[in-house]
Amino acid sequence: MDKAIEEKYIKAGEVAKKAKELARQELKAGVKLIDFAEKIEGFIKKEAGLAFPINISINDFAAHCTPDINDDSVFKEGDLVKIDLGVQVDGYIADTAFSVKLGEKNNVLIKASEDALQEFIDNIAPGKTIDEMTKIVEEVVQSYGVKTVKNLAGHSLEQYVQHGGLSIPNMHINSKHQFKEGDVIAMEVFTTNGEGFVIESSPTFIYMFVRPNALRLNESKIILNKIVDQYKTLPFAKRWLKDLTSPVKLHMALREMVERGVLHEYPPLREKGRGLVAQTEETIIVKDKPIITTK
Ligand code: MN
Ligand code: MN
Repeated sequence: MDKAIEEKYIKAGEVAKKAKELARQELKAGVKLIDFAEKIEGFIKKEAGLAFPINISINDFAAHCTPDINDDSVFKEGDLVKIDLGVQVDGYIADTAFSVKLGEKNNVLIKASEDALQEFIDNIAPGKTIDEMTKIVEEVVQSYGVKTVKNLAGHSLEQYVQHGGLSIPNMHINSKHQFKEGDVIAMEVFTTNGEGFVIESSPTFIYMFVRPNALRLNESKIILNKIVDQYKTLPFAKRWLKDLTSPVKLHMALREMVERGVLHEYPPLREKGRGLVAQTEETIIVKDKPIITTK
């Protein structure tokens, strides 16, 4: 990998580490999710760029939750909270997540996801296969007597692309695809005491630009210009657009753009059996001595 690019990945990781520290300090029962989200995103924007909206997914929600405009929900004692945050420097991304159960120190789901990810990190190297690496993850998680979420996966990262071509599922698969020097991957391990699958839920608050298409509403055109200019091909939150127009018009514009295939939407993902879900994620540059940019 080009040295200048590697340095950008490392810089993004450094900011992500600090953002996680701040998030751990600020995450308490009674705190409003929107205040927490704005504080952490504000910190990231001061130091680098946001790669995607902070995901705050609680209990049986596994991923893709972020506060709505004027969201008034608060963290509650006992919540199993996943914080997933992203930083980018010139489009080179650090994608990382941790879990906390508010008011509880030793949670088996969290421990299982952390240990499985650590085993992945300890074993990843050029030449290792997806077969070998997914087997490690699933075995560690099962050794705790819990399940992985089988339809969620780690993924490769590319410039301004959060989900690159490579997928590393949370279940053992037979792929002989080999990791190679310079691959950048965001490995994430999801554990659950439910059925081991997520399904799509609603409403959606996270979107991403996919391709241009003809649009009818004037607001759609204005909002799309802003999206392409500011967020390029990275995910963004509905609440980031709140100052552009009224909530009703914003809603209609986003609907039109989804229907026209201009935007991809990321509905919240919820555990199928309403089990609790924990997540741990780090960004890794694959080499003989891998660089964990976010740890
Ligand atoms: Mn993530
Ligand atoms: Mn990820």
